[in-house]
Amino acid sequence: MNKYKTQLKGLTLEELQSLFLEMGEAKFRALQVFNWMYNFRVTSFDKMENLSKPLRAKLKENYSLITLNFASSELSAGGTKKLIFETADGNKIESVIIPDEKRNTLCISTQVGCPLDCKFCATGLMGYKKNLSAGEIFDQYLLAQQHTERDITNIVYMGMGEPLLNYNATLNSLKIFAEALTKGITLKKTIVSTSGIAPKIIELADTGLKPKLALSLHSCFEKTRSKIMPINEKYSLKENLEAVAYYAMKTKTRITFEYIMLKGLNDRDEDIKALIKLTNQIPSKINVIPFNSLQHMHPTGFSASLFPTEKNRIEAFVQKLRDNDVTVMIRDTQGDDIAAACGQLALKFK
Ligand code: SAH
Ligand code: SF4
Repeated sequence: MNKYKTQLKGLTLEELQSLFLEMGEAKFRALQVFNWMYNFRVTSFDKMENLSKPLRAKLKENYSLITLNFASSELSAGGTKKLIFETADGNKIESVIIPDEKRNTLCISTQVGCPLDCKFCATGLMGYKKNLSAGEIFDQYLLAQQHTERDITNIVYMGMGEPLLNYNATLNSLKIFAEALTKGITLKKTIVSTSGIAPKIIELADTGLKPKLALSLHSCFEKTRSKIMPINEKYSLKENLEAVAYYAMKTKTRITFEYIMLKGLNDRDEDIKALIKLTNQIPSKINVIPFNSLQHMHPTGFSASLFPTEKNRIEAFVQKLRDNDVTVMIRDTQGDDIAAACGQLALKFK
């Protein structure tokens, strides 16, 4: 197997150009290989017909085009499809295809597990194994497209892991989405969701790439947020709000605040007031997310004390926000019958 060779997939056009120049090859070869990998989606160097045979042999000897292998899939009643892929080093990750009338969204992972231990999150409960490479991140898209009849239209970095803790690979994968002919997927249709790694939010804003940004907010109060998201002790809400305000200003995009409804914890009237104030300060919208049960993971400690807000309270909460001119969407909990909904992505490590 070629698993010990360097992965070529995951390199941006610029990186491929440097590589080919280093190899003593012409710079335009980089674009040819880029197209083969990301646009024509070949998985063997032999199929790169416009490269000379010696160059193909040289590439084959040193590099691999295989990053992930499809392991299995599961289809939910609502049409959501969970895909499980295996990395060359034997780790399993998940991606989810979420179709609706207009879109066919792919939710991708950036890490195997997640080190951040958010109390409401199944991925957090399973711990952290490793970062994915840019190739492994992008390949989820190439492979997922083979498992859905419609073109994938949108990408959300909302699967397993914290994208901004795997910043370089995430950034490279975004560059490839921006450069490759991904059938209409632009960074305008790509959302990076973060629990709030403030310095990296600023760094991403300064790249000029402009993917949409979602901040997992979940509470407007530092103390409560720290209780459910320990990372808040390191990068406070205040710091993150300053960072996303900068992001919105720099990229001229609206921030999405993700807000899981947790009974008694963040669904009170004072939470509504705080959200109104916040959305008045930052160009944004709120994505209210019904809490997906973690009962299938038998949580202990603080996680065991978290319960979903009742449906009628969610509706009243959202109505009050809307009455105050806040833009709010309620996220569908598509796929929770197969544990493929957001925050339910967790696999047992071997
Ligand atoms: N690490 C990133 C992206 C992955 S999580 C982040 O935290 O933003 C993607 C989204 O799923 C986040 O908004 C997260 O808060 C949410 N999520 C996590 N656990 C959930 C659960 N049990 N129910 C509903 N949403 C959940
Ligand atoms: Fe990690 Fe995001 Fe889950 Fe928190 S919510 S543990 S950051 S994947």
